[in-house]
Amino acid sequence: MNHDLEKVDFSKALNNIQHISAENYQCSLCHDTGWVIKDDIANPCACRKQGYLARRKQNAGITPALLQYRFEGFNIGFYADYLQSSSGSTYRQLAEKTLATAKHFAATAAKDQARRGLLLEGDVGVGKTFLAAAIANYLIEHDIDVLFLVVPEFLDQLRYSYQENSNLNESAIIDRVRQIPVLILDDLGAHNFSPWMRNIIFSLINYRLNNMLPCVITTNLSLQEMNEAIGDRTVSRIIEICEIHRLLAEKDIRLSKFK
Ligand SMILES: [Zn+2]
Repeated sequence: MNHDLEKVDFSKALNNIQHISAENYQCSLCHDTGWVIKDDIANPCACRKQGYLARRKQNAGITPALLQYRFEGFNIGFYADYLQSSSGSTYRQLAEKTLATAKHFAATAAKDQARRGLLLEGDVGVGKTFLAAAIANYLIEHDIDVLFLVVPEFLDQLRYSYQENSNLNESAIIDRVRQIPVLILDDLGAHNFSPWMRNIIFSLINYRLNNMLPCVITTNLSLQEMNEAIGDRTVSRIIEICEIHRLLAEKDIRLSKFK
């Protein structure tokens, strides 16, 4: 009899301890050890994979705001089905086609079979960055290395690496950008591109063309404006390595989300 009581007390106490401790752990499965013991074998906990993915996304340049951009969240309803582009497609048809192409690119690149990337054109706030980030998130979750670069920030970083006392190594940065399996260049837009910047962009694009490495590029410039900004020899190579898709929206989607 006494024995039974002791047992009951013991399990109650244990429950209490577990209850109290569980609140202090971020992962209730492994209690933050990273390991789950099953049949006397230690297996890596699922939270490890999440932490690993989070670190990889951070290294890929995916900011917290970009993490939430996923194909499932791309809202076709934002694109008017009563407005037409000059080609005769409705805004919605263009968005549907672009979404399908972006998904297809991601699925192909996840199998390391994508040779041709995407050039996403359109005004500010039409969903170009959304799709580029959705591609990046998908690929990292499928174990493909991606680099998401916001072009003006990247060029600033490079310029900074030239300065003395900088511990950034310019050639190491460029090598990584050249060789990354999938490169995303966001916002290749109007910018005062110096001859030095034009050369950097040309050499990147040219390297990727020669090595059949895909790029996803977003821009709010037309091809003609791009020619003026970065030079036609770079643009002609971009056209060679990218399928061009245009997104049109009646108004800035980011702004209309708040209304
Ligand atoms: Zn865990």
